[in-house]
Amino acid sequence: MPGELISVEEARGRVLAAVRPLPAEAVACERGLGRVLAEDVASDEDLPPFDSSAMDGYAVADPDGGELSVVGEARAGAPAEGAVGAGEAIAISTGAQVPEGAGAVVPVERTRPGGEAASGVARVHVEPVKPGANIRRAGEDVRSGETVLAAGTAIGPAEVAMLAQLGRTDVRVGATPRVAVVVTGDELVDPGEPLAPGQIRDSNAPALVALATTAGAQVTSRRRVGDSFEDTVTALREAIEAADVVCVSGGVSVGEHDHVKPALAQLGVEEAFWGVALKPGKPTWFGSAPGGTLVFGLPGNPVSAMVTFQLFARPALRALAGATLSSTRVRVRIDAPIRLNARREQAVRVQLTATEEGWHAAPTGEQGSHQISSMLGADALALIPAGEGELAAGAVVHAEPLPRGTV
Ligand code: AMP
Ligand code: MG
Repeated sequence: MPGELISVEEARGRVLAAVRPLPAEAVACERGLGRVLAEDVASDEDLPPFDSSAMDGYAVADPDGGELSVVGEARAGAPAEGAVGAGEAIAISTGAQVPEGAGAVVPVERTRPGGEAASGVARVHVEPVKPGANIRRAGEDVRSGETVLAAGTAIGPAEVAMLAQLGRTDVRVGATPRVAVVVTGDELVDPGEPLAPGQIRDSNAPALVALATTAGAQVTSRRRVGDSFEDTVTALREAIEAADVVCVSGGVSVGEHDHVKPALAQLGVEEAFWGVALKPGKPTWFGSAPGGTLVFGLPGNPVSAMVTFQLFARPALRALAGATLSSTRVRVRIDAPIRLNARREQAVRVQLTATEEGWHAAPTGEQGSHQISSMLGADALALIPAGEGELAAGAVVHAEPLPRGTV
């Protein structure tokens, strides 16, 4: 097993130091969802582009109210033909351009029909409102010249909406990282196959494919190999050629049938670390292949593989895609006592509940690294520092939320 263990923080630092963001490309904005902006996006006009009405009602010159002559109409997309003057009102719809001369808009609920003038012009009685009431000013959302979206921002629905409002049809985004998944183990069979004595089903390949997808990456190859040195070398060589990131699970310890480390050495993959002071996840290995492909040797135990993917591989994938990484850690109050580990930080799977006094974290049950059920319903990994004895219930620790969506 690894001798010298490095901290989670140190390991993550070494991973991110090895990342070179992938080249950017242009995509249609509508295809940008889930991608990462590779350019700062500025507006070359004010938004909204003109003063507009926030209500259906009457645009008036003078906000003090009274009986006015209705001299025109302004509709969304069809401005009034003239200005509104003293003693006049222009009927206006929500979103319509406010006519010249208007000092306020009186909502229709605060008006009533007035008498008809001899000329046949309709009259309306309007209540007094505050000067400027119900007028949305040009540039109130975005000013011309303002940088609205920064490179490194993940594109979600709000960014898609803003890009459209800015008039953009396409945008530069970071590339989608390619991931190759390799799982090792003579004991593994696919779901759907019967289990012979001593066999278990492979859950790491499906889990890693799902995790890579939720990190915004594309899985370009997926392989299972037995515990053979030659097969492991072949599978890893092909994986390294086909991807920006390889996630290989199992076989990364020093057992007689663990071939991942010697295979990676044979392929010239340079080790950045092996062994993290983390439970679960101690034998995690990380390095870079000569062509730049990043290789994560993840432990075989299903929970260890998922936890180490989230803590190390996900940030690498996001950074490769060009994302600006910001800490998402939250302070949580742990609801149950936790037995401390003398040498290793623990990543305890917890369910979070918002309370008046902040987030509460309830461990998801038994925390064995083989117990996939401990990942079910987990909102976060509570990071419990190494130490002696027990952490009392009610103690405050940091937790790293587990992403649920597709990026
Ligand atoms: P290893 O790291 O290869 O020593 O494997 C550690 C544990 O994880 C063993 O109990 C393996 O059977 C189990 N394991 C390894 N690979 C997988 C996998 N792909 N799916 C589920 N369990 C696995
Ligand atoms: Mg194995």
